Amino acid sequence: MNRTEEIIAIIERHGSKAYGGERVSQREHALQAAYLAEQEGRPDALVVAALLHDIGHLLDGGDQGLAEQGIDASHEEVASQWLADRFGPEVTEPIRLHVDAKRYLCAVEPGYIDQLSAASVTSLNVQGGPFTADEVASFEESPFVDDAVSLRRWDDRAKTPGLQVPDLEHYRARLEAVSAAEGANEGG
Ligand code: FE
Repeated sequence: MNRTEEIIAIIERHGSKAYGGERVSQREHALQAAYLAEQEGRPDALVVAALLHDIGHLLDGGDQGLAEQGIDASHEEVASQWLADRFGPEVTEPIRLHVDAKRYLCAVEPGYIDQLSAASVTSLNVQGGPFTADEVASFEESPFVDDAVSLRRWDDRAKTPGLQVPDLEHYRARLEAVSAAEGANEGG
């Protein structure tokens, strides 16, 4: 099975799991996030990052519900490490930083925290809460800060029950193109 098939199979197999505390499934959430990125005309790598940003929740069969128990499963680290031999940093870095981007926006953008869902506020606290001034400064040093913030905003919005968006197949060619373009290893 090639990498694109492997990724699609994982989302097909585990994507019906609830997106913790929200009214959409993991699969619906992923597809809505990717569609928001595509609608803004963003590069293929960032569309793929949006599609796969929560795959860390699916790799172990799903870890949803841990935040409510006060456990930070670090799904962003799990995902970026798992994806690193399949994609380059244009995909893995926005994913790795998408939780930090929430902590960042809570610190720098008045009103941001007020529009987060209840589940997202719960996980924010488990994830460490809003960034301090020093954390803001070091986050802004990343070359992927803008992409991570964009991904975070799609993530926050990709929670609409019943929204009709393109299916996984819509992203197959893009997954293959991005994986090849970034020199990821073939096979596996
Ligand atoms: Fe998400």
